[in-house]
Amino acid sequence: MNLLKYLQAQGIGSRKMCQTLIRCGLVQINGEIINNEKAEITPENVQTMNIDGEDAVVIPLPYYYILLNKPENYETSHKPRDYPSVFMLFPDHLRATDIQAIGRLDADTTGVLLITNDGQFNHKMTSPKHKVAKIYRVTLKHSANESICETLKNGVLLHDDNETVSAENAELTSPTELILTISEGKYHQVKRMVAAAGNRVEALHRLQFGDWGTEDLAAGEWRFIQP
Ligand code: URA
Repeated sequence: MNLLKYLQAQGIGSRKMCQTLIRCGLVQINGEIINNEKAEITPENVQTMNIDGEDAVVIPLPYYYILLNKPENYETSHKPRDYPSVFMLFPDHLRATDIQAIGRLDADTTGVLLITNDGQFNHKMTSPKHKVAKIYRVTLKHSANESICETLKNGVLLHDDNETVSAENAELTSPTELILTISEGKYHQVKRMVAAAGNRVEALHRLQFGDWGTEDLAAGEWRFIQP
C-alpha cells in the first residue's frame, strides 16, 4: 500500500490533506520523514507514526479490534442523545474510520465493550447462533437469596416478549450481588431478566465478553486486542 492510501486508511484526513502533509515533510513513519506519497508501506511493519509533530496511534490494518473498559454515562452510539458517545474516548483519526461497537451497553452500564471495523467478527460475536458468553456483575436493589439464581437459570419471560430467556449461570456472591452469565444480547436483557425475577438492577458491570475482561484497564482505558 502506498503512503497516501495508508494515511487515508488510518483516518488521517482527505486525500488532499494527506498529500499536503506528505509534501510538507510532516509525516514520519518509524521515526523517518517520508515525503513521497508513492512510498510503499507495509502496515505490519509500522510501529510509530508522527503527523504534523504529533505522535498518532497506529491503527492495525486492515482490521482492528479494541477492548474498552466503558465508563459510566457514555452512550454506545455514534449519535448519542443524553451523554457523550463512547467513540469520543478514541483519537480523532481512529474515530474517522469505520469504527463500530460489538453490541451495546446502556449508558449507566460499565465494563467490557468490544469495538471493531470487522463486520464478520462483529456478527460472529453477536449472533445468537454462536452463543458467546457475557458475564455481568449485577448489583441488586433488594436483598436476594439463592432462589433468584434458580429462577434466572430456569428461564424468565421478559415483558413484551413471548419467549423465555435463561441465564447460562447465576451465582449470588452477596445478598445484593449476582454474577450472571448470558449468551444472548437482547435489549436491556439483564435489567429485564432481573425485573422478571422480582428484583431490580442498581448497577451493572460487564466483567467479560467472550475471551476478554477488563482487569488491566481503568474505566475509560482501551487497548487493541488480537482475536
Ligand atoms: N443488559 C442490560 O440490561 N444492559 C446492558 O447494558 C447490558 C445488558
